[in-house]
Amino acid sequence: MIAFNNPPFVGKELEYIKEAVDSGKLCGDGMFTKKCSEWMRERFSVNHVLLTTSCTHALEMASYLCDLKPGDEVIMPSYTFVSTADAFVLRGAVPVFVDIRPETMNIDERLIEDAITDKTKAIVPVHYAGVACAMDEIMDIAKRHGLKVVEDAAQGVNAYYKGKALGTIGDFGCYSFHETKNYSMGEGGALAFQDDAYLERAEILREKGTNRSKFFRGQIDKYTWVDYGSSYLPSDMNAAYLYAELEQAEQIDRKRHSIYRYYHEALRPLAQEGLIEQPFVPDYAKHNAHMYYIKLKDLEERTKLIAYLKEKGVMAVFHYIPLHSAEAGMRFGRFHGEDVYTTKESERLMRLPMFYNLDMKDVEYVADCILKYFKK
Ligand SMILES: *Cc1c(COP(=O)(O)O)cnc(C)c1O
Repeated sequence: MIAFNNPPFVGKELEYIKEAVDSGKLCGDGMFTKKCSEWMRERFSVNHVLLTTSCTHALEMASYLCDLKPGDEVIMPSYTFVSTADAFVLRGAVPVFVDIRPETMNIDERLIEDAITDKTKAIVPVHYAGVACAMDEIMDIAKRHGLKVVEDAAQGVNAYYKGKALGTIGDFGCYSFHETKNYSMGEGGALAFQDDAYLERAEILREKGTNRSKFFRGQIDKYTWVDYGSSYLPSDMNAAYLYAELEQAEQIDRKRHSIYRYYHEALRPLAQEGLIEQPFVPDYAKHNAHMYYIKLKDLEERTKLIAYLKEKGVMAVFHYIPLHSAEAGMRFGRFHGEDVYTTKESERLMRLPMFYNLDMKDVEYVADCILKYFKK
């Protein structure tokens, strides 16, 4: 069976975990946590990166730092992972969903302004498949209406918009290092931001409402409870795993792009015949080959192809069920405007196996199976 995903492993992960264990400090903010944050700060040109226990937690921290009150509204796509909305729902905010652009599956920036009300506090663009949203337009809308922008860059680590790293353009960027993402620590994430003004509160939030981070830097003699907070700091063991992968980011990126390119070229004839649609990357975006998907004619065809591939030993999967049609989505949020593409496009999208340790022979086999399906 060719898996849909396997957690990435490049080589030095276990060695670094052992180093973390031997260092005598396993809790957060140890050597590897610092190395990971430094790596991202430099590579992505961002002033602050705080490693977190997940992207969900980074989104939660961002929602705290946006100072949301119950009833405040946050504009986002419905075609996204649960956490994009849930992190704000936990603060009592209302997710207001708008439609996506079919060619990228990203929020349609032209529909945002119409969804703004007196209660709107933030916009949450999700960079689907590591392909950037139209950030200039989104930042301009946010500026004119005094809104915060929280980028859900869970899939957008090491991907770019006009040369700027995703997650560093809005007020906050949230990354995921879950095992299904390009760079992994099992479970984990990071919160990135440029503005120094957020740092102290962000550190306190992450450290159970205490000023322990300041204490560790020797800036104060003892630490104490200073504000509300939670426990969002990952163990240094997990950070050790991640650091081994960040060091090999080039290699991981190259391999994922080879897989992406292979699928893209091998399946092009099907697109030319109008049997499938392939992903589109706007000129302004440099993507990170987070995902390879194709779109089928409709739900029925997708169901058939997924079953066919399973028979052939290939795990291909569909993706999000739009949040506005989920039980909790109906209870906590609302869809603004018309759902022209969200449901329709989500029903025809199918993702192909894509992970660092995937054998190119298997990639060829997957593409071959799809070509055969359409020939029969
Ligand atoms: C994976 C993902 C998340 C959640 O990431 P975790 O690290 O598992 O919390 C959030 N948003 C999007 C778009 C994702 O793909």
